[in-house]
Amino acid sequence: MENKKWFSLNLGNRKKQTISSCNCGKTAGSCNSHSNEIRDKDFLEATVDASIGEERHKDGFDQVFDVKMNRRTAFKKLTASLLIGAGAVSTSCSVITDDDAKEKAQIDWEEQFKGNYKLMTDDEKNATVKRLARSYELRTGKTISMSSKNAEEDVLFGYAFNISKCKGYMDCVKACVEENNQDRNSQMQYIRIHEMEDGKGLNFAEADDNYYHEVPAKGHFYLGTQCFHCDSPPCVEVCPVKATWKEDDGIVVIDYDWCIGCRYCMAACPYDGRRFNWSTPEIPEEEVNKDQHYLGNRLRKKGVMEKCTFCVQRSRKGKNPACVDACPTGARIFGNLLDPNSTIRWVLENKKVFRLKEDLGTEPKFWYFMD
Ligand code: SF4
Ligand code: SF4
Repeated sequence: MENKKWFSLNLGNRKKQTISSCNCGKTAGSCNSHSNEIRDKDFLEATVDASIGEERHKDGFDQVFDVKMNRRTAFKKLTASLLIGAGAVSTSCSVITDDDAKEKAQIDWEEQFKGNYKLMTDDEKNATVKRLARSYELRTGKTISMSSKNAEEDVLFGYAFNISKCKGYMDCVKACVEENNQDRNSQMQYIRIHEMEDGKGLNFAEADDNYYHEVPAKGHFYLGTQCFHCDSPPCVEVCPVKATWKEDDGIVVIDYDWCIGCRYCMAACPYDGRRFNWSTPEIPEEEVNKDQHYLGNRLRKKGVMEKCTFCVQRSRKGKNPACVDACPTGARIFGNLLDPNSTIRWVLENKKVFRLKEDLGTEPKFWYFMD
């Protein structure tokens, strides 16, 4: 977006003008007093400036108010932001002499008012992933590598699933959960493996998606579903705040920070491809995958939409998604549909392939085939 600027309160500079950033005169420890005086006033001014101040700082909120949204939703979002921001203010005041905490507060501020990732320049993308990585380091003492790598030219990702090879082992599901930092408590999984009875066709209504027995079960076959990265994704159309979109390489992504959790997209997806996280994802620190992409497996907050991203953190580095590499039977094929020498192209050209719900015109980039 042209002329788009970061919104920054520059708390660091402000501190230099006074003995302490809250003006209480105390130079060590928490002041625990008058934390609402100047900070809230500054904060309110800054928030109004960032959100509705006419042409003063066109940025994140401006993007929200520019899109179709009713008053109630818009004010709800603004109020939520005020509350989160107020937390950041309080932090900056109560631990003013702790440089790390102060840096964290500034990061929180900047994160709060950043724009939609889709509209960011590359520099802004780099800055935001740097901030998130630093924020994680400040919180945990651990480092992560986060990428904002864009789609490459002449790449359009596609996926094919060999029904005759899948034995229902669910190694793909496990690999997906681990790779994508999914919550370990809620059992939320991006991939579903449907166990279906032979001779009954693709009967999703009677399929068992939650089986717990030895596989493959006699008289059954297995079929996996996940986000199909439709070329005409209905989920994208319905999002009221433009938090989800299709990238140039065909991957349908979500900006978790921009998602307001309305779940319209979940309702619009005809393939049950989206998952809503009802609780803050919990992952043991030693199991966190620290190789992340902003639009992929970075740690999410509670109350946002998640789903398969074709492991964007891997696929944009030329690797297969984790599910493809984990499948012991080779039932999963992934690659560049624009590369005539790719395996996925070979499958499409040499196997009898089909897609689910073709009649809807969603053009999923996910095909099924049999040997
Ligand atoms: Fe959207 Fe569902 Fe299509 Fe994925 S499968 S792109 S979530 S409509
Ligand atoms: Fe958009 Fe879906 Fe998030 Fe709603 S839940 S804001 S439709 S991405």
